[in-house]
Amino acid sequence: MEKITIKNKKILILFLILFNSNTNAGVNNFFHSEKKIEQYSVIERFVNINGTNILLTREITYTNKEKAFIGINPENLESILIKDTNFIDTEKIYFENTPFIKIKRKFYNESNTIGEVNKKDSLFQDNAIVLLTTDLCPVEKSLDTNFYIAISELEQKISNKIPFFIFFSGRWIETHHSELEWIKSRGFSFIACNHTYNHKIIKENFSNSVLKDEIIKTELIMLNNGIIPSCFFRFPGLKYNKENLSVLYEMNLIPLSVNFWGGQKSFPKKSILLVHSNGSVPIEVKKFIQFLKGIKNKNIKFVTPGEWFKS
Ligand SMILES: [Zn+2]
Repeated sequence: MEKITIKNKKILILFLILFNSNTNAGVNNFFHSEKKIEQYSVIERFVNINGTNILLTREITYTNKEKAFIGINPENLESILIKDTNFIDTEKIYFENTPFIKIKRKFYNESNTIGEVNKKDSLFQDNAIVLLTTDLCPVEKSLDTNFYIAISELEQKISNKIPFFIFFSGRWIETHHSELEWIKSRGFSFIACNHTYNHKIIKENFSNSVLKDEIIKTELIMLNNGIIPSCFFRFPGLKYNKENLSVLYEMNLIPLSVNFWGGQKSFPKKSILLVHSNGSVPIEVKKFIQFLKGIKNKNIKFVTPGEWFKS
């Protein structure tokens, strides 16, 4: 029998914690891995893990030949990192009516990103469910920590975690290591999302293969920094060509737009709020903090993607 070293035991325990914690809402998608990635592929494999159907979307081979996979729970849209021995293959048909597959088909068939501004939407000043999102587009500026401190303070006040999305550009991570570690150290339950590597604003004829490279490069940087990439993506500047949506569809990514900015007094019942926390738009953070002060009696809820898409 193979001797289990303390280090291996630690890795095993981490995987177990990771898997268990990710089956619940509100997760920290962090892990510690000293292993180097040798090969990384986009795949689509339908499996079952301990009774839960999971869609495997990425295959990771480390330099020591160990394998891992990134999977999506198609019911609650959470992403997990999985060891290769933990699952059995199953049929695609069991995934057909899940929220994830329905959302994917909807954005692709309608050729739109999710949550775009719709002039026909009625706007309200209360009673809304909100996906709170922040973008870390590449900049030299320091992180706007006020955004994160405001979330921490609200979490303390309500004794609960606030789910929020961080859209990372690969270049931001590469140039802000200590600030990334600071975010990770604060115990948030954020969902790590892809905002491309270079943050090139898409104009006409943007190559699908360049977009794919931009996405993969960012996923690898996230993984090398101990973050599990989720299934959510945001186009730089929210601009895209309809033809580029096929890349996301094939890679099992869901593109999120924005229909609510911090300064707005009224917003749709189902909102996606964007606050830049990369230090380039401090006014957005200020307005967000003002908004938080006023939400107490307005029945405004920050929800998980699973809850938002279900309603
Ligand atoms: Zn951006």
